[in-house]
Amino acid sequence: MTEKIKKILIANRGEIAVRIIRACRDLGIESAAVYSECDKTAYHVRMADEAYYIGPSPSTESYLVHERIIETARKCKADAVHPGYGFLAENPSFAEKCLEAGIIFIGPKPETIRLLGDKLLARDTALKAGLPVVPGRDIGGLDIASALAAATDIGFPVLVKAAGGGGGKGMRVVTSEDLFAESLKSAANEAASAFGDSRVFLEKYLPRPRHIEIQILADTHGNCIYLGERECSIQRRHQKVIEESPSPVVTEALREQMGRAAVSIARSAGYVGAGTVEFLVDHDLSFYFLEVNTRLQVEHPVTEMVTGLDLVKEQVFIAEGAPLKYIQEDIKLLGHAIECRIYAEKPEEGFVPSTGTLTHYRIPAGPGVRVDSGVLLNSQIPIFYDPMIAKLIVWGKDRRETIDRTRRALQEYRVGGVDSTIGFHLTIMDNEKFIRGDLSTRFLEEEYPDNDYHRLDGEVLEKAAIAVALDSFINERKIILSQTSSHNRPACGWVTYHRKNSLRQFRGSR
Ligand code: ADP
Repeated sequence: MTEKIKKILIANRGEIAVRIIRACRDLGIESAAVYSECDKTAYHVRMADEAYYIGPSPSTESYLVHERIIETARKCKADAVHPGYGFLAENPSFAEKCLEAGIIFIGPKPETIRLLGDKLLARDTALKAGLPVVPGRDIGGLDIASALAAATDIGFPVLVKAAGGGGGKGMRVVTSEDLFAESLKSAANEAASAFGDSRVFLEKYLPRPRHIEIQILADTHGNCIYLGERECSIQRRHQKVIEESPSPVVTEALREQMGRAAVSIARSAGYVGAGTVEFLVDHDLSFYFLEVNTRLQVEHPVTEMVTGLDLVKEQVFIAEGAPLKYIQEDIKLLGHAIECRIYAEKPEEGFVPSTGTLTHYRIPAGPGVRVDSGVLLNSQIPIFYDPMIAKLIVWGKDRRETIDRTRRALQEYRVGGVDSTIGFHLTIMDNEKFIRGDLSTRFLEEEYPDNDYHRLDGEVLEKAAIAVALDSFINERKIILSQTSSHNRPACGWVTYHRKNSLRQFRGSR
């Protein structure tokens, strides 16, 4: 039974809220936004058909308050809630409460979110589904000596990981025995305060893996397909900053192997909706299951660009109970896509957030360019949330053309009033190793150990010098003009002659 959704409440903000509103509009579905105090005039609020205030700026008092969002959905008669990513997107009890309130949660079933959201249970599920996993060990209930013995058995370096983790939190690389006890403690403490769950486990730390993930779609009728891969190896502090599809190293055969593995774990978990199965890929191209993200990913647009599908629309169709319109053989990848996450951050200072007002904002356009922006000119970048400004997504017929177009688009992009990562991305687009596709999750720390992203070449230096000269020339002129007011400014000969002449005419006419 399919039931058409008429109104969707979007339980999110920024670019992803705008992205979902656009899909709603394409589908003729009404959209309702929610907003906190500091988001009163935000882009997603202006874009939506309706908008509702849900509380003060801190997300714990607004975007994360289950009851307030469900109450708003009820009040505005939304038949579905789309959680986007982050905030409540992977919260099983929120999904449960939506269903109890008779509202469709656009995502998997709560029990699937619960199962796959726990990294230990997800590892077990992957093992049962026959997926290769990174060698590891659950150390729950073990004393320090036994945990250390387990780590020695795996072999250093090991990675201590939070079972309930996400966003790179509660993770510690341990290179030797003597650092083990301390790292274990600090990872568990961080996990307890971030997720309210101090359970940690051990994994073999792969020295230079690639992060490659598979997008899947599964409907309520038992159909499940994979939509190719995304390479997300350009990371800082285990968080993605540039993503692309397809991966420069994935062959047709490897894609099929990884795709089948992804479908297999999705089936074991009773998955419904759009999801992502993440893998680490070693230098010999052997792959290991990492985790499943039970939501739309930030980087979903690169998959949309190469498959031609609209993943948000697909999520809505699945939530309505419709069967997938495609079988595996229908999915063909065309061309190449790259996404650059444009943040209001200072890359040279370790990517610290740069909050404030966007006093200048001009987005790029032209062949192959898509900008999923969460802001407008004069928008605020508040301190309360992730400082993402937009995602620049670029398509080209091959990787080379895509890199060239990305560089061109980045050069067109103008952000003023706050710092941005545009210059950082430009540097990466010129990096020889990146251009060769020689990537690993350690790429940034190996290539730019001091956050030195300003490797200016001669041409850029020349342009910069011209810009500085022009700027100081204009400023000097401004000073001269303001100093020479209209009373004492020496007029040129033509002006003096004209003035005298017109005075003579005036006198003559009296
Ligand atoms: P989170 O859910 O916090 O994002 P993930 O398990 O998805 O954590 O891992 C995030 C990133 O951490 C990976 O993309 C990779 O860069 C790194 N990572 C995770 N596990 C390993 C491992 N066993 N060896 C090396 N790097 C790892």
